[in-house]
Amino acid sequence: MGSKGDNVAVCNMKLERLLSMKGGKGQDSYANNSQAQAMHARSMLHLLEETLDNVHLNSSASPPPFTAVDLGCSSGANTVHIIDFIVKHISKRFDVAGIDPPEFTAFFSDLPSNDFNTLFQLLPPLVSNSCMEECLAADGNRSYFVAGVPGSFYRRLFPARTIDFFHSAFSLHWLSQVPESVTDRRSAAYNRGRVFIHGAGEKTATAYKRQFQADLAEFLRARAAEVKRGGAMFLVCLGRTSVDPTDQGGAGLLFGTHFQDAWDDLVREGLVAAEKRDGFNIPVYAPSLQDFKEVVEANGSFAIEKLVVYKGGSPLVVSEPDDASEVGRAFASSCRSVAGVLVEAHIGEELSNELFSRVERRATSHAKDVLVNLQFFHIVASLSFT
Ligand code: SAH
Repeated sequence: MGSKGDNVAVCNMKLERLLSMKGGKGQDSYANNSQAQAMHARSMLHLLEETLDNVHLNSSASPPPFTAVDLGCSSGANTVHIIDFIVKHISKRFDVAGIDPPEFTAFFSDLPSNDFNTLFQLLPPLVSNSCMEECLAADGNRSYFVAGVPGSFYRRLFPARTIDFFHSAFSLHWLSQVPESVTDRRSAAYNRGRVFIHGAGEKTATAYKRQFQADLAEFLRARAAEVKRGGAMFLVCLGRTSVDPTDQGGAGLLFGTHFQDAWDDLVREGLVAAEKRDGFNIPVYAPSLQDFKEVVEANGSFAIEKLVVYKGGSPLVVSEPDDASEVGRAFASSCRSVAGVLVEAHIGEELSNELFSRVERRATSHAKDVLVNLQFFHIVASLSFT
């Protein structure tokens, strides 16, 4: 990747060709920075179970495989644990109902730039068919067939009526693109001086909200075609408690404070032109419950079994909370693991290093505030298709 800083403008590229969490297993990789997501997912397992209990079990003599999908799976271990949990839970339900369980297939789906290689290497070995049932209980083995599916979840990914269960965690807040008006200097929604919706003007906020709702509508339309009758979906994405979309809560703190200030540092120091900064925007929107609900209701294909805002907690995992430099490092790594690929595409690797070292310095000097106030809320939706 070039380092001049004038190579690629994120706004002019198709985001879905570019976006990924940081691959591999290094310090700033997603695999190494997703323990907090794992904790948040664990705290919601009872809600996932409730949704799985709504899924229809096929009791015919030779049923097709039970098919589960994780959308926005990324390249860490979380997706493997979730699929494992889903297969075990459904399998148990078949047992309890006295029905022979079918075979299981799991699809791991994400954008094409996702590091599927790292993910596939995390998969436990498949147990042979003959001992499938005994091994279902054994840890460290896999009792389901897998495939990776590259593509945007805002479009069709699977044949019609083939999927029993969709899961998606911490992904649907990623927009399909930065709204065009937000990077158009002639538009009233131009996000001058800022790199995120947090703290932006009303018109910018409206453009972000529209983009989120249009994207979610496409997502639901695609899933409604793919899910089997009696199937269900469990969706979790960043959410906010404020009605005001320019207050993005935890996401606002992550991308709208020290990250924003670090961009401003680069501009002040003459390393990046102001317009270059203004051409960069984080394509994330943390919806309110109402934003989300309006779209599900307008789509009308799914029954809402549950739709709540759930407190997730901090995305930072630190062993010494009193160590300001550890907190600063964790903040910068967390930010870079999710936004680093986009930043590098916009200003190159060298300037990206400069940016994130300033993010780290700034977060270190506000360590207490970061630890206390960086809290995520999630929208949790349990939807069924009848
Ligand atoms: N579900 C995982 C990872 C969440 S990270 C976990 O629980 O840890 C968010 C993921 O969403 C990223 O891997 C990103 O590439 C993916 N994503 C964002 N937009 C997407 C889109 N339009 N289609 C498919 N995946 C997308």
